[in-house]
Amino acid sequence: SDALKQGAMQIVRRLYEAGFEAYLVGGCVRDEQLGRPVKDYDIATSAHPDKVQGLFERTVPTGLQHGTVTVVIGKKPYEVTTFRREGGYEAFRRPTEVEYIDSLTEDLQRRDFTMNAMAIDQSGDLIDPFDGLKDLKRGVLRCVGQAEERFGEDALRMMRCLRFASEYGLRVEQATWDALNSGISLLRHIAMERIRAELERMVGGSDPNRALELLAESRALRHVKQELLLSGLDKETEWPPLSRLMKMEHRLAFIYIRLEADPADVEADMIKLTFSRQQMETVKRIVAAHTVLVFGLDDATEWDEESYLRRRWIAAALTYGVSALRTLREIYLLEPAPIRTDNVKVGRAVDVWRRLGPVWLEQMPVSALAELAVGGKELMGHLGVKGGPWTGRLLHRLLEAAALGELCNDKETLLAAAREHYDKMQEND
Ligand code: ATP
Ligand code: MG
Repeated sequence: SDALKQGAMQIVRRLYEAGFEAYLVGGCVRDEQLGRPVKDYDIATSAHPDKVQGLFERTVPTGLQHGTVTVVIGKKPYEVTTFRREGGYEAFRRPTEVEYIDSLTEDLQRRDFTMNAMAIDQSGDLIDPFDGLKDLKRGVLRCVGQAEERFGEDALRMMRCLRFASEYGLRVEQATWDALNSGISLLRHIAMERIRAELERMVGGSDPNRALELLAESRALRHVKQELLLSGLDKETEWPPLSRLMKMEHRLAFIYIRLEADPADVEADMIKLTFSRQQMETVKRIVAAHTVLVFGLDDATEWDEESYLRRRWIAAALTYGVSALRTLREIYLLEPAPIRTDNVKVGRAVDVWRRLGPVWLEQMPVSALAELAVGGKELMGHLGVKGGPWTGRLLHRLLEAAALGELCNDKETLLAAAREHYDKMQEND
């Protein structure tokens, strides 16, 4: 990070020596003041992009339309952006057209929050026309200028407001909070991708509980373009410390289970939110495993027997994967639990799974079809028949029996068992 900063200051000084103004700006100044690690250093300058390109050996025209040139110093990329003013805002989104200006203060003025509107000059001095540092020290998040106007120009700022407040543990200053609440319905103009990016950082961030609280209080998710299950988050819900779950996806799975969502609805919700296929699959598997575990438990007569609960647990592991079940167990360990504990049977079963689930997973001799000592082709060859839908079913039964330790995972045993099953199936037909 030291080398990262040195590269940034090298750029600032080079621009300064060439007769331009240049500063570190935005998130890097904020994070430095807080003593937080800085991910990237952004630079603002009075030099126009063509001048920036002329001054450095390695540049990439990454965002010329907003005045941004990427300068590469020692393999590290830095965004260098010309001072600018944002022209008219269209439909509550940031403008595509920009106008270059000469004044740093005016460039800082277009930024969203006072803590994001600070700069550091070529000698390392802080420039802070909107008192961002004072706000930071008091733990306050405040818009630059008139909050209502700022949220009106770009509604995404409201999501950023919620994200910064939760990630940095800040109180939202009253006028900013009031403006957010009165403007929240403007979020419908924001692309779901942008909403998701902020939501993902909130749920995956350092204080997911505070994030949920802020989302519930502002009712932000009720006002986005598409109707979401997640908008069911409310102030009454009590959450366990979700940061005990390390992954954003696992926290999200907890939330969906708490909302009693079914797997198909989770999929629909996460697609609307433009989460990746992989993220969606991870969450859905966990929710689906939970659903099959507890579904019908109420009516089961053997619900209190350990062997019965073990069978359910292992069957779920075979269908949804061992890692989904491990995560589910972590989810079940949190208090308050994600499921209504007024259901005695479910409550007791979950208790058993918490205690024994990991042991059972550990003891499974096989956990996937690929580990089974026979495959579909061998099975058909042995039985002397063509494959069909039953092949898969039979393989799955063998897998389950092997996973439960009822059958030894060797070819001979499995093929003999398959023969027996097959003959029975024929008799029944
Ligand atoms: P992080 O990178 O941790 O999200 P950041 O503050 O660096 O935080 P960026 O999105 O990288 O956020 O933006 C860099 C700077 O650009 C911000 O610090 C802020 O000054 C300004 N900025 C970004 N988005 C907006 C916006 N929607 N409205 C006004 N200013 C913005
Ligand atoms: Mg940044």
